[in-house]
Amino acid sequence: MPRISKVCCQGCGSPLSVDEDTRYVTCNHCGSSLEVIHGESTTHTRLLEQLQNTTEQLTQQVRLLTLQNDLARLDKEWDRFRESVLPRLPDGTFVEPSSADWTTFGMTAVVVGAIAGLVAFLPGAGAIGLFGVIGIAVGVGCLTRDNRSAADFHQTKARYLSRREQLRRAIERDARAA
Ligand SMILES: [Zn+2]
Repeated sequence: MPRISKVCCQGCGSPLSVDEDTRYVTCNHCGSSLEVIHGESTTHTRLLEQLQNTTEQLTQQVRLLTLQNDLARLDKEWDRFRESVLPRLPDGTFVEPSSADWTTFGMTAVVVGAIAGLVAFLPGAGAIGLFGVIGIAVGVGCLTRDNRSAADFHQTKARYLSRREQLRRAIERDARAA
């Protein structure tokens, strides 16, 4: 004869009788699915929905960890990329190319070059005309080449930041739900 234990339904509090071999019961009063936990000195029940919640929480936590991992990897890749393309100051901070600086510099060179070129047409101008040509060449060179590499860098940076923001939001959402 199996031993019968009196337990309480965790769903509605009704008294239930379970034998020692029973692992799962359904409460006749409220219909809750219960797991019967046979301890050494006591027998009690646990709602199965709670068990399911725990599994969901675990899945959530694994997903959160995966996202955090992705974020860490993204940051590391970005650091490596920066390290490979950017010059550094002695204190270790990176110098990011500023397209605005190069645009100003390039425009100034073009303008100064053009003025020098005009001056070259004045009688007795001589070598100033040569500076004009060099100035324009340097200006145009700065505007195209350096602006393009700066634009590439900033495009990559924008991609990194938007991906990072996506991950950060997903982490925030999952952390709240967990
Ligand atoms: Zn019940």
